[in-house]
Amino acid sequence: MDIYIDRGACIGCGICVKACPEAYDLDDEVKVIVKDPNAPCLKEGAESCPVGAITVSGEPATAPPTEPAAPPPEAPPPTETEPAEAPAPVQIEIAPEIAAAPRPETTPAPAPKEPPAKLGDSQGVMVFAEQRGGQLKKVSIELIGRGRALADVLGVELSTALIGHEVEGLASELIARGTDKVYLIQNPKLENYNTGCYAKAMIGLIKSQKPEIVLYGATHIGRDLAPRVAKNLNTGLTADCTELTIDEETKLLLQTRPAFGGNIMATIMCPKHRPQMATVRPGIMKELEPDASRTGEVVNFDAHLSDADVMTRIIEIIKERKKVANLEEAKFIVSGGRGVGGEEGFKTIQALADALGAEVGGSRVAVEKNWISKDHQVGQTGKTVRPELYIACGISGSIQHRAGMQNSGCIVAINKDPSAQIFTVADIGIVGDLFEVIPVLIEELKAAGIGA
Ligand SMILES: Cc1cc2nc3c(=O)[nH]c(=O)nc-3n(C[C@H](O)[C@H](O)[C@H](O)COP(=O)(O)OP(=O)(O)OC[C@H]3O[C@@H](n4cnc5c(N)ncnc54)[C@H](O)[C@@H]3O)c2cc1C
Ligand code: SF4
Repeated sequence: MDIYIDRGACIGCGICVKACPEAYDLDDEVKVIVKDPNAPCLKEGAESCPVGAITVSGEPATAPPTEPAAPPPEAPPPTETEPAEAPAPVQIEIAPEIAAAPRPETTPAPAPKEPPAKLGDSQGVMVFAEQRGGQLKKVSIELIGRGRALADVLGVELSTALIGHEVEGLASELIARGTDKVYLIQNPKLENYNTGCYAKAMIGLIKSQKPEIVLYGATHIGRDLAPRVAKNLNTGLTADCTELTIDEETKLLLQTRPAFGGNIMATIMCPKHRPQMATVRPGIMKELEPDASRTGEVVNFDAHLSDADVMTRIIEIIKERKKVANLEEAKFIVSGGRGVGGEEGFKTIQALADALGAEVGGSRVAVEKNWISKDHQVGQTGKTVRPELYIACGISGSIQHRAGMQNSGCIVAINKDPSAQIFTVADIGIVGDLFEVIPVLIEELKAAGIGA
């Protein structure tokens, strides 16, 4: 068989490898390679590729030989397996029962147990205000910023669900950031996050208030809570959205997120079920400046929790000793890529970060080479960040890296290659060797009285 691989088109999603592991694998650059061109499932693997990066033509080598007496074949007929055209942006509408259902292989989505909520009853935008240990998560403030804009377009109220124990002091901050109404659900059982109690509280609140849109941060807690609520309410959920807007005509929530390895942006709608629900990654949406003169209402809501709702018991909370990079909430980030050259080179990145009081980030290559741990990775499969200052050192600026940092306030790029993609999103570009540039920057910071 003839196999043609278009490495430029391959997005490294690994679907072909899953479809035919005997024939395909991914190399160090996360691109497809052919392991065995005679594997029986070679064609199936090629056909599974969503971007048409593999073209297989002809017969398998093991196919029976053709008749020896047959006349010499004429020019081969046009093959039906021409490479697919590059995908255009698409709009995908996913039925909520499919979006919310677990998706192993071919199991059909279970039939809805309850009739869907009557659409006309639902009104308002609600944000799940996540707090841990009495501290609001930054993503909740960001979601209130976007929720405010959505509510204003729809001409409805923006509410937040504040769940915990003795957290009433946080309500004023939520109002100052743009909330009209805070639903306060307090109970000693809600002091620390536990799935059963938080899910019951959210489900009860949504059933009673009937918001048309509910937003959660795509944090560990949001990712645990939102699917349970969606399943219970028999509605859809779009995970990891990067944009939320309202369709002018239908007034539906347009939930946009990357698909197929970031090669296309899919816009997903939930027209038949309520509420429309989405999780949003931290660092994507812009928070509003606090306005202490804003007024709003605080409403106590009883979730009627009982011991039976507590599915897990927390015996002890041990703070992790290892410092995990908190990139999503960092004001300044200095990131290193392949150009840093190794673990030793990251000491130079760390020195600049120390001088600025910044967190250290890295590209996927730096993480894969073990120069820095995974919690420092910025990008599509790492963290999405929005610091005031992002300094990219020795990073080429692939689309997957840019997806995680291009909304930063000011981007400074240091790269030897003047044509590097990173310069297309940089506010300040420095063409040069990072090992020469960074020491000079540190000296300048010291001279200006900044850093050690
Ligand atoms: C599905 C998928 C998801 C991905 N997710 C992510 C992700 O989340 N994050 C991510 O970062 N990548 C991700 N990638 C990988 C991405 O495609 C790139 O391979 C990666 O970002 C490249 O990392 P880099 O810029 O460090 O390395 P390179 O692309 O190799 O760039 C190194 C740069 O350093 C410069 N350089 C070299 N030496 C010096 C020096 N001394 N001084 C200054 N400049 C120097 C070079 O000019 C070059 O531009 C993903 C890929 C796929 C397929
Ligand atoms: S893009 Fe196509 S060829 Fe590349 S890994 Fe995915 S399925 Fe395989």
